[in-house]
Amino acid sequence: MGTVKDNLETINKKIKAAAWKVNRDPQEIKLVAVTKTATSEQIKEAINEGVKIIGENKVQEAKGKYQVLTTEVKWHLIGHLQTNKVKYAVEIFDLIHSVDSIKLAKEIDKRSVQFKKTIDVLIEVNISGEETKYGYNPEKVEAFLKEISEFSGIKVRGLMTIAPISKNKEEVRPYFRRLRELSERIRDKNIKNIKMDYLSMGMTDDFEIAIEEGANIVRIGRGIFGF
Ligand SMILES: *Cc1c(COP(=O)(O)O)cnc(C)c1O
Repeated sequence: MGTVKDNLETINKKIKAAAWKVNRDPQEIKLVAVTKTATSEQIKEAINEGVKIIGENKVQEAKGKYQVLTTEVKWHLIGHLQTNKVKYAVEIFDLIHSVDSIKLAKEIDKRSVQFKKTIDVLIEVNISGEETKYGYNPEKVEAFLKEISEFSGIKVRGLMTIAPISKNKEEVRPYFRRLRELSERIRDKNIKNIKMDYLSMGMTDDFEIAIEEGANIVRIGRGIFGF
């Protein structure tokens, strides 16, 4: 693993190449730098090298970093959110990728309204159906969206998924494709207040395939920070 600077250069090149391969504009793809166990020095280096969005799995960890990193960056919550942490999550994050239950959606809505804000969220979809994964069954997403479309504290902006771990990269392609197709079907339904601007899919091992299949947010940790 090289320095954060070198790693970012490599990742950005690969993002561009993957986008060009399918005639997409690389500019439309947002890179979320997933910090997990990265040190604050590494995170600062990433920001110096142009990272605009920090991805956090845990609210508690984000709170610490949020106070240290005063630079203008966006904060995305990508990990599972417990209802008792929503209050802080709504304060800190610009986008929550991991809305996976009505109970959670209600709590986020309630807290956002208290803060007089509307928070952007993605719906996490368990596209592979693995029991160990969080996220909605794809068949149930539409009904869920109709249920929450009236919530004034929440703005649904798209879908997120985590592909199964696989040695063969090509095996994940159908999952990404299915998420894109689901988002297109939902968009065609024109559900009030529901937008499908974002498809958050692709991590260090599979982001190029995700981009080929339409991802416009990729979440990359190891590839940048080397943990
Ligand atoms: C850790 C994590 C990532 C980044 O994974 P890498 O393999 O380190 O790139 C992306 N999304 C979620 C939800 C994660 O937990």
